[in-house]
Amino acid sequence: MELACLDLEGVLIPEVWINFAERTGIEELRATTRDIPDYDVLMKQRLRILSEHGLGLPDIQEVIGGMKPLDGAREFLDWLRERFQVIILSDTFYEFAEPFMRQLDWPTLFCHRLETDDQGMVVDYHLRQPDPKRKAVIALKQLNFRVIATGDSYNDTTMLAEADAGILFRPPQNVIDEFPQYPVATTYDEARREWAQASLRDL
Ligand SMILES: [Mg+2]
Repeated sequence: MELACLDLEGVLIPEVWINFAERTGIEELRATTRDIPDYDVLMKQRLRILSEHGLGLPDIQEVIGGMKPLDGAREFLDWLRERFQVIILSDTFYEFAEPFMRQLDWPTLFCHRLETDDQGMVVDYHLRQPDPKRKAVIALKQLNFRVIATGDSYNDTTMLAEADAGILFRPPQNVIDEFPQYPVATTYDEARREWAQASLRDL
């Protein structure tokens, strides 16, 4: 049995924080782990900025609700779901992903959770576990699945390494250079071809 593990941001949906920063005009929210390598420091800064702007979870979800999956993402995901059991492994939060999950017809998603107070303000975040994408692939392989994985960025590379086959989708050049062992797809048609190649079955 083959199972598909997909990253979310950059593969099916745009980068949430960057788009959120653009839509709200809050420039400081554009910071990523490239600017602040310590994820905890970065997240605490994001939560502080949201609070300073009086943005609670309902406001954030409303903004995110105006965003759409990447063009062709829904069709690609449907194509995969007809051929594989699909699990999305993401470092986003369920509360942010919800508007996208609705548009993608509620695929299975393993990610993290935000904590809100009774005013709806985001007060903390909870990572499900460290190195969650790789850990998920290890667990799925123990259930006797052959795993094929696709991601776009550094935080996917341990997942790709653990999987039986890995495919990069629209990665930045530095990831292509550092991980030349993985085939690269830049369109969903190319991704379908790479998946067909990676599968042991005739798709
Ligand atoms: Mg990504």
